[in-house]
Amino acid sequence: MSLSVYVHIPYCIQRCRYCDFTTFEQSKIMPPQDYVSLVLQEIRQRQSLVLERQIRSLYFGGGTPSLIPAELIVSIVEELAKCGFEFDSNCETTLEINPATLNPQKIEFYLKAGFNRFSVGAQTFNDRLLKACGREHSAQDTRETLGLLNQMELNYSFDLLFALPGQSLEDLREDLRETLDFGPKHLSAYCLTVPESHPMALGRAPEGEQIEMFELIEEELKGQQLDKYELSNFAQRGRESLHNLSYWTDQSFWGLGLSAHSYLREPGWGVRFWNPKGFSEYQDQVQVRAKQPHTELLDGVGPYALLPSAQKEILKAHEALTDFCHTRLRLKDGLSEDAVRIKWGRPAADSLSLRLKSLRKSGWVESFDNDRWRLTRQGQILSNQVFLALTYLASDLERLEPTVV
Ligand code: SF4
Repeated sequence: MSLSVYVHIPYCIQRCRYCDFTTFEQSKIMPPQDYVSLVLQEIRQRQSLVLERQIRSLYFGGGTPSLIPAELIVSIVEELAKCGFEFDSNCETTLEINPATLNPQKIEFYLKAGFNRFSVGAQTFNDRLLKACGREHSAQDTRETLGLLNQMELNYSFDLLFALPGQSLEDLREDLRETLDFGPKHLSAYCLTVPESHPMALGRAPEGEQIEMFELIEEELKGQQLDKYELSNFAQRGRESLHNLSYWTDQSFWGLGLSAHSYLREPGWGVRFWNPKGFSEYQDQVQVRAKQPHTELLDGVGPYALLPSAQKEILKAHEALTDFCHTRLRLKDGLSEDAVRIKWGRPAADSLSLRLKSLRKSGWVESFDNDRWRLTRQGQILSNQVFLALTYLASDLERLEPTVV
């Protein structure tokens, strides 16, 4: 089994108005070199707790990782190698970038260190909308960054944000036209999500129009062989994000840095753990615990003794099954009843089958390839309701207990 690693770099030039990621204006917090040195300590401190040693994808997200010195980012890759992690020969290594934060020298440096994918937080080519979002870059910055990536023949993904305040279908069509002219091989399309009370909720397209927007995106991208392989992600064949796929296909991932989440498939039904969102708490946890010997930390209760109980969750069978159904149904490849039978036993697979058949009557899911199920168009629009119907309680599996493996 191989591992995916996520590293959170919580620095931005300024905060966008809609952002709810853990990220801060660079000038207001701990200098990046101090933060990175904590991440290096975290790797050393917890590395022996992660059983999988072979890394299949490495993703630097944030925040704006391209904002801090490239040497700091690369020192994290080097620390993983020093601690005995090995990288697959085709390990997907991605850096999230914002327009106007890279130059050819920096890119060369990343390429030498093994980076082979960039994810560009472009959002829109409309300067009026960029300003409304509080984005720091201009459309021209995006054009120059994409031009540079194309000139160097690099693999990149484009982040598109839609249903912005005052954005019309025509504005979106214009964004898509310009985006596709650059020819990204991967694109993530996100509908702006803010609470109704948020100032950016004013002037957004109503729900019906948001659906039309999504349909327009799908249609335009299909014409460029950008196939929808997940609810919000499109790619040319073979350019799907290995890293993101690991989140949706029950693979272990290790999250490093502020607020980063981890999931390990083993032991038992799997375990989730996460880091705090505040610098001082993160620093305390990394520094104080680094002084404790591992043997003491591991004593009797497994690796998760490292973490306060509010930062970990040892999954039960019904929680693991719920996660499995929700994540698989996001994918075009869908959910396999057989995979559920192998991991949770026949009674659980039969119970799932009954629920799916009932959802099929509502027109929200459809079956294909004998044992597989996927969301219909209607089901994609109402995915939250489908997921609710496929949320298992402990009592649901208790009834099946004697044969649950
Ligand atoms: S650039 Fe991205 S991470 Fe930074 S504030 Fe804007 S939305 Fe948030």
